[in-house]
Amino acid sequence: MQSLWNEHDAAQYPTDLEQRVYTSRLLGKNPALVMHGGGNTSVKSSIPNLFGEPQDILYIKGSGWDLATIEARGFAPARLDDLRRLATLDVLPDLQMANELQCALIDATAPAPSVEAILHALIPHKFVDHTHADAIVTLTNNPNGRDHVRNVFGDDVVVIPYVMPGFRLAKLCAEAFATQYRDGMQGMILLNHGIFTFGATARESYERMIALVARAEAYLAQFPPAPVAVAPPEAIVLREELANLRQRVSAAAGKPMLLALHRDEQAWAFVHQPELEQRAQGPLTPDHVIRTKRLPMIGTDVDAYAEDYQAYFETYAPQVAQQAAAQPLTMLDPAPRIALVPEWGLITIGENAKALGVAEDIYRHTMQVVTQTEAMGGYRALPALDIFEVEYWDLEQAKLKTSRKAPAFTGEVALVTGGASGIGKACVEALLARGAAVASLDLQAGSDDLTKRTDYCGIQCDVTDEAQLAAALETVVRRFGGLDMVVLNAGIFPPGTQIAKLSLDVWEKVMRVNLNANLSLLRLAHPLLKASPRSGRVVVVASKNVPAPGPGAAAYSASKAALTQLARVAALEWGGDSIRINIVHPNAVFDTGIWTDDILAARAKNYGMSVEDYKTNNVLKVEITSRDEGELVATLCDAPFARTTGAQIPIDGGNDRVI
Ligand code: ZN
Repeated sequence: MQSLWNEHDAAQYPTDLEQRVYTSRLLGKNPALVMHGGGNTSVKSSIPNLFGEPQDILYIKGSGWDLATIEARGFAPARLDDLRRLATLDVLPDLQMANELQCALIDATAPAPSVEAILHALIPHKFVDHTHADAIVTLTNNPNGRDHVRNVFGDDVVVIPYVMPGFRLAKLCAEAFATQYRDGMQGMILLNHGIFTFGATARESYERMIALVARAEAYLAQFPPAPVAVAPPEAIVLREELANLRQRVSAAAGKPMLLALHRDEQAWAFVHQPELEQRAQGPLTPDHVIRTKRLPMIGTDVDAYAEDYQAYFETYAPQVAQQAAAQPLTMLDPAPRIALVPEWGLITIGENAKALGVAEDIYRHTMQVVTQTEAMGGYRALPALDIFEVEYWDLEQAKLKTSRKAPAFTGEVALVTGGASGIGKACVEALLARGAAVASLDLQAGSDDLTKRTDYCGIQCDVTDEAQLAAALETVVRRFGGLDMVVLNAGIFPPGTQIAKLSLDVWEKVMRVNLNANLSLLRLAHPLLKASPRSGRVVVVASKNVPAPGPGAAAYSASKAALTQLARVAALEWGGDSIRINIVHPNAVFDTGIWTDDILAARAKNYGMSVEDYKTNNVLKVEITSRDEGELVATLCDAPFARTTGAQIPIDGGNDRVI
């Protein structure tokens, strides 16, 4: 743990609020301090109101902002006196508190203040930093947590027993401050939760955070975790088992979910440690429960996990409802978010690619802390009731009612062949836009704009090689958990040749790519599509040449006609597995890589037309773009076509030979 403070950089942030932005980002950069929106920071400052009178303002991190990327507008400006006055109340239910915090703002467009706003207001220092540092929760989440904290920090910090974050915590901290705080103290340790530091300047508060956490890290070095010796995982094929597990997890969740398998050294050692069941307990800090659920699933019995979750809800819901006199609670879905499967590895689960990544990041830190605490008497999480309270507190329940409708393909997985460019790439984009996680198979490497996305997986693959196809499917399923949609798009269009001169070599090559490769992929994908939580869907990109062939394109037209017939038979055979297969027949899509301006001009000239007339040479006189194709393909996978299979749909602007 080292300070990232840089005098030159810091000088670019002159005001109180800008200093606050600068060191908040420094905290956010270190995942050993905060992850994914965790932690919060504040600064107290004075600015004149409309009447020129000075007013004291607490700038507190707004909810929905991440410390790593926060900006000045990510801090909610609240009247400090209003917040401090709220703390004089005996009780303040969460939803009412959220309302009062909102009403204390001086900017109606500001984000909602962090639920820790009152606590920040009560700490007398100008700058306040709060993190859930790994080293601190390692110190506290074991049987002797309080002793370890005293061993490390002596009287340099205020120590707070665990209570639920929010108003109760603010009250408790205020009392603890009144009795424990002495000049020179640098921070406050919240058992089973995290750490606060404070100071007169942004640098002082930030560097106290670094220094205190570094002291904890140095202390922890005397408790080295015992290494777990296990043989490395064997290379085994798991895609069908994983897809079936995903189907059961999705059924429990009531919606399609993504899964990812991890068999790296850390994950493999963790799932093979002795007494896994006892060690894999609750989260490091309560707010992780929203991302990982309280307990991981050990093994693959989803029904048993869901029953246990239901029992947990039924046990604790009445206790929480009594305390808060709140509305009846709505049970969250009972599906796991983490599964520890000794035969397979660590499995993370999420409703979309982002949630999948967050669950993984959080659990990697959890595994590290659990392993570290083994030498300190064993990992000890908070009791289930405390975790339940955070999982089901009013503000989280309120979010359920206001959350926006997710895109149509959220939690689903699509695969597009030839997805690196042209129509294939347009299909990838249309599927991503509808919330699917998408894999693209292509001979070419994928484009840079997509490779950074966590919901995209570009795989270089020769689709005519069955072994490569099988390996690609294994990769996709390990990355996202299964397969719901397949777009058969990859194809080649050889130079125009009359049949009299058509070589068997060219003919066979076209058949290998446009036809045989699709048979291989359909056969390999079938068990995965069958395990789709909703229903498997296949869209075949054929051609106008199927209903209306052209001279000089025998191999291409015959391959696409055979592919169409293959798809029609598949529609008949797979209907019983709820897999739908539909076919599009595009024509004259000129915005793909094959059609350069020169080729287009030459072709138009050939027909004695202007380029514009040539592009719109169809019944509707419209241009057809890759994007139009992508939208049609995605729509065929969507609800409006849920009762359609084996259909052939032209997308050609209207062709008089087809009509
Ligand atoms: Zn916290």
